[in-house]
Amino acid sequence: MEKRKSFTKTHYKATIKRLIYENGSLSRTEIQKKLGIRPASITQLTKELIKEKILIEKGFGNNKKGKKQRLLTLNPIGGSVIGIEFDPQSIHGLMINLENKIISEKNYTFLEGTGSNQIIDLLKKTIHQLIHHNSIHLPPLLGIGIADPGLVDRERGISLFCSQIADWREVPLRQILEKEFQIPIFIEGNTNCKLLAESLFGAGRDFQNQIYVDLSYGIGASLMTHGSFYYGAQGLAGELGHVQYDKSGPICSCGNHGCLEMFVSSSAVIRSIKNALQHGVISSYLDQIRENKDDLSIPSFIRAANENDKFCINLVEEMGRTLGEVIANVVNFLNPEAIIIGGELAELGDLILNPLKGTVRRQSLELATRNLSFKVAEIKDRPAARGAASLVLNQIFKENQIF
Ligand SMILES: [Zn+2]
Repeated sequence: MEKRKSFTKTHYKATIKRLIYENGSLSRTEIQKKLGIRPASITQLTKELIKEKILIEKGFGNNKKGKKQRLLTLNPIGGSVIGIEFDPQSIHGLMINLENKIISEKNYTFLEGTGSNQIIDLLKKTIHQLIHHNSIHLPPLLGIGIADPGLVDRERGISLFCSQIADWREVPLRQILEKEFQIPIFIEGNTNCKLLAESLFGAGRDFQNQIYVDLSYGIGASLMTHGSFYYGAQGLAGELGHVQYDKSGPICSCGNHGCLEMFVSSSAVIRSIKNALQHGVISSYLDQIRENKDDLSIPSFIRAANENDKFCINLVEEMGRTLGEVIANVVNFLNPEAIIIGGELAELGDLILNPLKGTVRRQSLELATRNLSFKVAEIKDRPAARGAASLVLNQIFKENQIF
């Protein structure tokens, strides 16, 4: 009986930490409503958590009657975590405290074609520099999360393959970093990390069943069902970019013809611009590139679309409709609550979201779209590294570990 009681207590304490982590701060009354246990128990549990230096009282909130209530937050000095994102040309690392505030940041850029051993050394260097970035006393480091750009065996902590890094094969990243830093390491796919960050602090915070579509060089997608990632048998779920859109379309890097990312992605935009230039298409944006080739870039394209350049607007609307046709099938098949558009092209905002929404609503079952939300990702600054850091906290809170 005593054992059961202490299990319940540990469980409630872990749940309180998790609720506060997800909500930023909560009053005791709000915690009591969410947990559905007696107010006296909440008073006792929060008192213990404050004594253990896990929670602190900070500021006031108002209840419905306008009465001021003390708010509880996680103690920022209780711990810190590191989140790292990397790709074939750069590494971005950040250290956050338990209030989710960045306390140190480190970036590296390197030449495309840099080998895997050098990238591993730079990953280690980035983490060392984050840990020792200055002499101030840092909260104890609880773990490191890595957002991996390629395929991951997350159970074994192995980074299996990344098509853009030449010799990146079966890299035992967790083992390498655990040996170096003697701390828990968590590895997750880059797109899953971005969705995790959105689901905790961004556009996806109100949804349990959602799909994140990452429109960047290619298309990545991540699926969350009942708050957990859906991986598929080999962790390959979410390869939306390689859904065939037009079997007579151009050949894709995967070897098939007409994959979706051949029509909707940053690389597809660059191809379309070059194609239009070759065919003498007229628009002020294209004329600007004719004058200065350096102006050909995704940010300049997005700017021109926002300034209503006809060529850019037409291309964006076409991409929105094309993506919509594929997402309409996904919606019929999976019935999500929300579709979140992220990545480089998400900066297009409503320009791409509106044609996408229109097509999905026309081509999906009315019942499946009635309550479906379409959102643009909200976390602009290093969402994958943010998500990777949250990965550590999520594991810690989920596993009821006391830090
Ligand atoms: Zn493909």
